[in-house]
Amino acid sequence: MPPLQPARGTQDLLPEAARRHRVVSETARAVVELYGFAEIATPIFEFTEVFARPIGETTDIVAKEMYTFKDRGGEDVTLRPENTAGVVRAVLSNGLIQSSPLKFFYSGPMFRYERPQKGRFRQFHQIGVELIGVAQAQGDIEVIALGSRILDALGVRQRTVLELNTLGDPASRAAYRDALVSYFSAHASQLSEDSLRRLDRNPLRIFDSKDEADQRVSAEAPTLAEYLNAASRDFFARVCDGLDRLGIGYSLNRRLVRGLDYYSHSAFEFVTAELGAQGTVMGGGRYDGLAEMMGGPAIPGVGWAAGIERLAMLIAEPPPPPRPIAVVPVGEAGEAAALTLAEVLRHNGCPVDLGYSGNVARRMRRANRVNARVAVLIGEDEIARNAVALRDLDSGEQSDVPMDLSFAELRARLQAFYS
Ligand code: ATP
Ligand code: MG
Repeated sequence: MPPLQPARGTQDLLPEAARRHRVVSETARAVVELYGFAEIATPIFEFTEVFARPIGETTDIVAKEMYTFKDRGGEDVTLRPENTAGVVRAVLSNGLIQSSPLKFFYSGPMFRYERPQKGRFRQFHQIGVELIGVAQAQGDIEVIALGSRILDALGVRQRTVLELNTLGDPASRAAYRDALVSYFSAHASQLSEDSLRRLDRNPLRIFDSKDEADQRVSAEAPTLAEYLNAASRDFFARVCDGLDRLGIGYSLNRRLVRGLDYYSHSAFEFVTAELGAQGTVMGGGRYDGLAEMMGGPAIPGVGWAAGIERLAMLIAEPPPPPRPIAVVPVGEAGEAAALTLAEVLRHNGCPVDLGYSGNVARRMRRANRVNARVAVLIGEDEIARNAVALRDLDSGEQSDVPMDLSFAELRARLQAFYS
């Protein structure tokens, strides 16, 4: 039998990786609070229809990447491939629209059946924000500024470029769509099969193709900029103006469309050159049509999602966990006292490692393995002398602390090792 392996495209987050992930999500959590976004957690699976129509049948996600199955009750369910549709579903199910604007943050696993490679997994993790109920460009500016601020706090903003585009309003897109269909139809022989299918359904999607031939044809296509009506141009100008005012640099990318069907107006991505082909660390945009498409009232929204794995690869090594105090009983006699002392120290906020078995030599090896700073030894001798022994594990020096000292003094002696 082959050794047990995790399923392809999934990975164990061993403690060091888990710590990196936690730095990303906790840094984000702290920054979103400054902007008044509150955390929300929606289910990891939903009815398939929550994702299928809103994301779009011609997107890679819906066409190829969803983990969809019938559960034992015959319900058609899907592991969430992204979380915007889930959040909007939650807003509608819980009748939250009256209290809009709503400002949500989330962090958690997403699932897409993709070819695994560096920075691309089948189970991956995202942080994201959704600002629901704000139609003004100020909403776009705020969520982009928030994203930029998080990347800054993680020390990666300067290694990314903010790429920005507008998809315009539905009227502009309809005019552009016609132009695209005639352009791509004229080049149909060079397009991939996937893109030929997109041609009738959603030609904009062709820009998002990762196929090289598609990308060559896309590069020469007319851009939406020429088809934007005055209202769309004005909206985009406001977004750009706001970013300028906040000193947030960006570069216009007229071919940025993003993977999902429900976007309008702003589309943006923060991209780094440091992760090869998987360089997009954060992407988002405005999705004014989404709630209505899902059967709710017309309510605007704007947000982004960022890949935790990709960000975790870019951040600096997080500080190691605090070095513990090793409490080491010497022989049977010390066991009970060690157990009590360990618990008292922990209740007083000191990290303590207490071995479970073995002689002193073995426990000291363990103390070194967990990188303890100091060992507190308690045994028959110490009990007879009414003392504990403190051993500095860096220098090897050892000294006694009389047990008749108050606990506060023992704690102070221990704290001295950490200053
Ligand atoms: P890509 O073009 O890399 O496939 P995407 O447009 O499909 O990205 P989004 O749906 O916008 O990605 O998701 C937002 C972010 O989530 C991405 O920018 C990326 O950082 C991360 N992400 C998306 N898919 C994966 C994956 N399979 N593995 C790891 N991270 C991912
Ligand atoms: Mg993708």
